[in-house]
Amino acid sequence: MSPVIPIRAAADGGCGDTPVLRERGQREVFCGLTGIIWLHRKIQDAFFLVVGSRTCAHLIQSAAGVMIFAEPRFATAIIDERDLAGLADANTELDRVVTRLLERRPDIQMLFLVGSCPSEVIKLDLSRAAERLSQRFHPDVRVLNYSGSGIETTFTQGEDACLAALVPTLPVRPAEAPAELLVVGTLADMVEDQFARTFEQLGIPARFFPPRQAREMPAVGPSTRMLLAQPFLGDTLRALEGRGAQRLPAPFPLGVEGTTAWLAAACDAFGVPREKLEAVTAAARERATAALARQRAHLGGKRIFFFPDSQLEVPLARFLSRELGMELVEVGTPYLHRGVLDRELPLLPAGTPLAEGQDVEKQLDRCRAAQPDLVVCGLGLANPLEAEGMTTKWAIELVFTPIQGYDQAADLAELFSRPLARRMKLAA
Ligand code: SF4
Repeated sequence: MSPVIPIRAAADGGCGDTPVLRERGQREVFCGLTGIIWLHRKIQDAFFLVVGSRTCAHLIQSAAGVMIFAEPRFATAIIDERDLAGLADANTELDRVVTRLLERRPDIQMLFLVGSCPSEVIKLDLSRAAERLSQRFHPDVRVLNYSGSGIETTFTQGEDACLAALVPTLPVRPAEAPAELLVVGTLADMVEDQFARTFEQLGIPARFFPPRQAREMPAVGPSTRMLLAQPFLGDTLRALEGRGAQRLPAPFPLGVEGTTAWLAAACDAFGVPREKLEAVTAAARERATAALARQRAHLGGKRIFFFPDSQLEVPLARFLSRELGMELVEVGTPYLHRGVLDRELPLLPAGTPLAEGQDVEKQLDRCRAAQPDLVVCGLGLANPLEAEGMTTKWAIELVFTPIQGYDQAADLAELFSRPLARRMKLAA
């Protein structure tokens, strides 16, 4: 049996205190509505009603375009010029849309009203609308609201806003109840099942938030210990801490090293000896390590540049540099949450150029000057950069694909090696 990989800080002390380039210019990032695509797949009896414009409807339909549902679980209530006659009209229209929807779809247990950018929507008080509609449909449906507006949120912040809105509705877990682990952040069902099995084998009682059914919301309180599964959940974390839950500091479960450290944080908190962790995870670790060695042959020594997009950039950069030998040219992220990344930053090579926020033209200049082997960026930048001869990886795929845990480590590496292989074929 191979020993559990010890988590060593970067030999040179890591990036914990490295100065960060902060930019506040024009951004090229999706808005938080995008989160609906993976959230509606996760909470299977919830419905997401975007209160927005035709642009919003177009965005979520095209982002979700590959998925065909007999009964989709998201829609857009279009509040446009016609509703400017008065806010009362817009509220009446919204109530009418919701009533018709809930009459047609008795399977809906939870309805999210998702705010957006248009000024007509900003004038609507969606929290009051949610309260009003919750009362009207009580006890069959709970109506909540959050903002996915591009003015307030980027790409993955929509999930943070959604989960933070859910926290006040979670049942109370008494302080004297035995400690329970809460894994926070949407994971693909397959990944959740793998982690649930591992925690069970470790003897750690674990729940997942969000759950697959709105009626199965986990209780939280001072006996809750949290492991974040996603790094973009700062507001949700604060809200859960406000309910007394305690975060277990850990890197994120990307790659063999990250997954091991993440599980080890839970083992330490629940008094599970490391030998047990070793025994439970040995086979999966060995498989993943062998598969990663094959990927390292393609990725080792390659230079990578991250544009800010998903907030996954720092954990991904850590995985790619430490387990696959890639060189980090620049790691941009929309928001660098030092608290959430406290166990990630020290694992980056010292001096890794970190950038928070964006001034897209300046960042494009730096990228062109550096000529990296691979650029991770949003869809809007990928095509122009490819046209300039660069090899790109769409950041959005990293959020839509199951990438956490041992069994997905090689798939995650392959997401980066595939565009390089494609480029080589094109050049041959
Ligand atoms: Fe709608 Fe604003 Fe997102 Fe555009 S940026 S799709 S208007 S919420």
